[in-house]
Amino acid sequence: SENRVIMDEAAIRRALTRIAHEILEKNKGIEGCMLVGIVSRGVHLAQRLAERLEDIEGVTVPWGELDVTPYRDDRESAEGTAAAGDQLKGLEVQGKKVILVDDVLFTGRTIRAAMDAIMDCGRPESIQLAVLADRGHRELPIRPDYVGKNVPTSREEEIEVLLQERDETDVVRLTQK
Ligand code: 5GP
Ligand code: MG
Repeated sequence: SENRVIMDEAAIRRALTRIAHEILEKNKGIEGCMLVGIVSRGVHLAQRLAERLEDIEGVTVPWGELDVTPYRDDRESAEGTAAAGDQLKGLEVQGKKVILVDDVLFTGRTIRAAMDAIMDCGRPESIQLAVLADRGHRELPIRPDYVGKNVPTSREEEIEVLLQERDETDVVRLTQK
């Protein structure tokens, strides 16, 4: 069962549309919300969600991108990666509902680092999490608020996420390591 397709282009499109509606329902609109995409593929997903939210609500949704490498507990601190405040390019975190967006949720360490980075920039009203795929194996008490698809995986499996903006196609596949 190598390279099983988990989500095709239509499934990804529908999942993002559903998540946009769930974000609006949970937050009773989009007022005070901002999206932060985690580098790299989370950024494209955040941009797509912002576009959908704008289509539905008719208002501009602030969104930015974040590379959490300097905030990871398990990596050498990355020289040359800007502090979170600079990466967010003036987007105000203080008092906002910050919705983190990533492609795959695994141990939760990336999201823990992202929360650390966000808190460095101010005190958000809340932090929420949207992911395209949750493959399980959490090592921290972190759970997503919005999930495209739950994909139980073994330790030998990985999820391949290809997005039009980088990969010229939209697909999520289950692969063997
Ligand atoms: P975590 O920090 O939760 O262990 O891993 C999540 C981060 O690593 C995300 O930014 C995600 O892009 C990447 N990641 C972890 N596992 C996978 C996977 O199976 N497939 C893909 N495409 N990315 C993964
Ligand atoms: Mg990533």
